[in-house]
Amino acid sequence: MLASSASVRDLVTVALDAMAGAAPDRPVPPGGPAAVAAALDVDLLPDTGIGEKAALDQLTRLLVLGSVDPAHPWCAAHLHGPPLAVSAAADLVASILNPSMDSWDQAPIASELEAALTTALARLAGHTAAVMTSGGTESNLLGLLLAREAHGTVQAVCGRNAHHSIARAAWLLGLPAPLLVDCADGRMRVDHLRATLAGLDRPSVVFATAGTTDTGAIDPIADIRAAAPESWLHVDAAYGGAVLFSDRLAPLLDGVADADSVAVDLHKFGWQPIAAGVLATSRPLTALDVRADYLNPEDDTDAGLPDLLGRSLRTSRRPDAFKIAVTLRALGRRGMGALVEHCCAVAGAVADLVERHPRLELLARPELSTVVFRPVGATDDAVAAVRRRLLEDGTAVLGRATVDGRVWLKLTLLRPAATADEYAGLLDLVAS
Ligand SMILES: *Cc1c(COP(=O)(O)O)cnc(C)c1O
Repeated sequence: MLASSASVRDLVTVALDAMAGAAPDRPVPPGGPAAVAAALDVDLLPDTGIGEKAALDQLTRLLVLGSVDPAHPWCAAHLHGPPLAVSAAADLVASILNPSMDSWDQAPIASELEAALTTALARLAGHTAAVMTSGGTESNLLGLLLAREAHGTVQAVCGRNAHHSIARAAWLLGLPAPLLVDCADGRMRVDHLRATLAGLDRPSVVFATAGTTDTGAIDPIADIRAAAPESWLHVDAAYGGAVLFSDRLAPLLDGVADADSVAVDLHKFGWQPIAAGVLATSRPLTALDVRADYLNPEDDTDAGLPDLLGRSLRTSRRPDAFKIAVTLRALGRRGMGALVEHCCAVAGAVADLVERHPRLELLARPELSTVVFRPVGATDDAVAAVRRRLLEDGTAVLGRATVDGRVWLKLTLLRPAATADEYAGLLDLVAS
């Protein structure tokens, strides 16, 4: 049956009951890939279907039992947060109505809402316009594309701490591979950036990272801008952009308003279901302009129908702005800021626990919500094995990071309701 508020209500009850019935109290299914693969013993393309309720019930149970639970305290490997209930519910509405963000006649108010939301998010980052993206990967590609359209064949320059999607974006756009700038304490070295730029004979795009994936370190954005006044500056704030909601923490991103483009992911730190990426800029987005007679014929645009194609590299798109809009209207900037501050405070308190632990060492005080640590005196192989053991037996999902050639363990703390106490037992397990 087609999706409507009535037909979905019935099935949502089936799905939610199945979820509640299956809910395991652990962060990850035990047994590793072999056990999970063995559990999926069902024909996914039967000649005759088993019916809506039966299929939804069965596969929902399998998915719950075989998934990691990002809301579990000990599921803390990645920038993979638990969505807020209000955001997940809003996303269900988006799935039912299914507005497609490629022409106004498929998304009348969704396109207005997206324009208003992206403007509000752009202002938060000190910019004039923003577009929705599938995440940091697409935002970084788009930032580089805008720079190339503005300046021609550009040389990308980024820290050794930068996300892999930047090198891939350069490759995808047929541009030279990024020049890598050395880091100190996980942050781009501005003196080395200056030296790198001094040797260049073509326009450059400097990628600063505000919240590295490995440690949450924030590059000195204002100093980078000062060292590269002629460059296009793209700030990859996929992780750290969330601090803009907090008056207290926003200064961590000082200088972001002077960048040319800024990537923020609200599915990283922002409690949105994937995808919720944003690229903010004060530069023209005309590089995205494209004409398709069936979607945005010139006479329609002249007659006042908004042109949606120029907002994305994609054509059909989900209205990801809707769940974000509902969330921000519900919590407000202060409410979001308080959640961000809480996660960062918990990370600070967990770092205290690590520092006080006789058998653990802390890499550095967390700048955002990532705590990087390792057992004292362990070999890299032993550190890596601890993470695999906890994953395999279903106890915990820890992240890992290679920093200065050594393997470290990582807790990426994104749960709004977390307390530091919840991590004491996990630290003991790692240390034992
Ligand atoms: C996760 C991440 C990305 C990629 O974002 P996606 O949303 O996964 O595409 C880019 N940059 C940084 C710093 C990230 O942490």
